[in-house]
Amino acid sequence: MKNKNNYDYLLSDLTKLNGVGKKTMEILKKKKVNNIFDLLWRLPKSYTDRTLVSKICDLQIGMVQTIRIIPLKYQFPRVRNLPNKVNCEDHTGKIDCIFFNSHEGYIRKILPLNEEVTISGKISSYNGRYQITNPTYISQDSSLIETIDNKYSLTDGITEKTYNKIIKQILKNLPMLTEWHDEKILKKFGNESWNNAIIKLHDPKNIENYKACFYKRLAYDEILASFLVNSEIRKKIKKIKKTSKKFTERAHNRIVNKLNFNLTNDQNVSLEEINRDLNSKSKMFRLLQGDVGSGKTIVALISALNVVSAGFQVALMAPTEILARQHYTLAKKLFPENISIALLSSKSENIKKKKIINQLENNRVQMVFGTHAIFQKKIIFANLGYIIIDEQHKFGVRQRKLLSDKGGNNCDVLLMSATPIPRTLTMSVYGDMDVSLIKEKPNNRKEVKTYSKLESKINDVIKFVRKEINEGNQVFWVCPLIEESKKIDHQSSVNKYKFLSKLFPNNVALLHGKIENEEKEIILNQFLNKKYSILVSTTIIEVGIDFPNANVIVIENANKFGLSQLHQLRGRVGRGSKQASCILMFKSNLTVNAKKRINILKNSNDGFEISEEDMKLRGFGDLLGFKQSGVKNFRLADPIQNEDLFLMAEKEIKKIELENININKYKALLKLYDQADIINDIV
Ligand code: ADP
Ligand code: MG
Repeated sequence: MKNKNNYDYLLSDLTKLNGVGKKTMEILKKKKVNNIFDLLWRLPKSYTDRTLVSKICDLQIGMVQTIRIIPLKYQFPRVRNLPNKVNCEDHTGKIDCIFFNSHEGYIRKILPLNEEVTISGKISSYNGRYQITNPTYISQDSSLIETIDNKYSLTDGITEKTYNKIIKQILKNLPMLTEWHDEKILKKFGNESWNNAIIKLHDPKNIENYKACFYKRLAYDEILASFLVNSEIRKKIKKIKKTSKKFTERAHNRIVNKLNFNLTNDQNVSLEEINRDLNSKSKMFRLLQGDVGSGKTIVALISALNVVSAGFQVALMAPTEILARQHYTLAKKLFPENISIALLSSKSENIKKKKIINQLENNRVQMVFGTHAIFQKKIIFANLGYIIIDEQHKFGVRQRKLLSDKGGNNCDVLLMSATPIPRTLTMSVYGDMDVSLIKEKPNNRKEVKTYSKLESKINDVIKFVRKEINEGNQVFWVCPLIEESKKIDHQSSVNKYKFLSKLFPNNVALLHGKIENEEKEIILNQFLNKKYSILVSTTIIEVGIDFPNANVIVIENANKFGLSQLHQLRGRVGRGSKQASCILMFKSNLTVNAKKRINILKNSNDGFEISEEDMKLRGFGDLLGFKQSGVKNFRLADPIQNEDLFLMAEKEIKKIELENININKYKALLKLYDQADIINDIV
């Protein structure tokens, strides 16, 4: 075939390989091995060395050993269940080969009498004689047996022998890829070519040789590919032309005048960045990142009103209805009355919904709030110019790209996230967007004090809570959401509710996922209006809810949560000017590691710092939300061990962007490594 790329072999499916049948393919598919390339990244864990040939007199029982023997005599008992046996020897001793469930013909073929055969396997003994049972490594060609075989950890259903054969076959047929790195970069990796590096990766001598040049080269390839994909998406979106949005400072001032605080410097800078993008002639695709409580909402609403005043519609999407409603309510308060805004709730009556949908289509509603439901097909905007997405850190690169396409060219996009991520990962997580960062917290904030308590000490906690309540403060009491079991969860929050209601009669409210939305809202409003002092809840309060008067949060089973999630929960308090507290409750004494983690929380109120520390302690794979977030699950690269490579790749990307380097030379790299499978849309 003409125009074939030489990397195509690596991307072809497993049927291309000799010795891989349907069954093996199915097994591998279940392990997410879909093509030849995928097979390269399952590394040998250890190996079996069959190269050393032993004499029978030197055999050690229980060990895998290789011997060269002469078969002398067959014993084929005509009795069921008795194994076939072949008596063999070398010039130093005797050994029997035992075969269960085997055919005579097969045995005669593999062990012809009086001819030398090489055989490798685990040696046992029976009645004082050496034996080897069902040997699979057996051949008259000793070079086929006297090899080093890797042990891989996926051989369920596939024998080591078959698997090694497959890998050897691939390594033998590796295409010569044209080098994509510059000489200067390549030199840093000892000039290891990709092919050589891959071969070394599977060389048993190199097991766990993470510091070697070949390993680093491959890790770097992976990092650079992930950054490059994102950078390409970003460039592509930036090229999209749109009608610029024209507005004055009027809308901004109208909102700011209604606030009883001044915007922080970071809020102002972020707004300027957003406004500049809105004004520009290219599409905005921007992330507003800021720790919990840093005040992202107000920035979003001001920019929304700007867009409305420029004559476009705005859609704000939140992860939960509660949050959508909270934003809607705030906008109702802050926006001028002549602006028509709507909340599209899944629970509102159909007539009401239809009316809103109709108004959106006729441009009679200027801004709509809701969950992902606002992007249903049946909802048509007359003139959508701006999409704001709150707290969607679980969106991956691909989902974001879809979203950006959705609104059409004229539609700017702002994502907001409070999930702080370690610096090394910024470009792999958010490299497809421009980022505005709110680092500074509103200055009336005091740090939340964090304590840990054993459940058996609940009386101390109750005492503390009572004191706070007597001072007019309010309390969140969180029972963990163990995702698989909403039911247990719901029960545990109900039980806690009952328990606390006895201690604080008529002063406790309950919120969990099973309560109807309308009801939820009533409860939240009552809590906001201080009808209750304690709100028992599952983690549905985790994202975004804003209750400045609540200043204590008790988190049960705190060990069920990741640090970042605990930090998010803790961020529900300390939003007003009073001293706030967070009490982490544990069922049993903490392990050393758990103590370390809790100390990180106690010592820091900075989400970024916490995520760095969390990553160092747990490894990045476990960091909350990353698995779902579309962050590449790197196969070799490790953001902690390979920090230098991440920084190097970041520098390289900046250079590529700045010098407008044609990325064609990276085509093979991108095609091979792009796990989000998005690059086909781009290059
Ligand atoms: P997040 O960034 O977590 O979404 P919010 O936007 O919900 O934070 O803001 C948290 C709280 O801080 C709200 O009650 C908001 O009114 C308040 N707030 C926002 N900006 C400021 C500021 N500059 N000064 C004081 N309070 C502020
Ligand atoms: Mg928020």
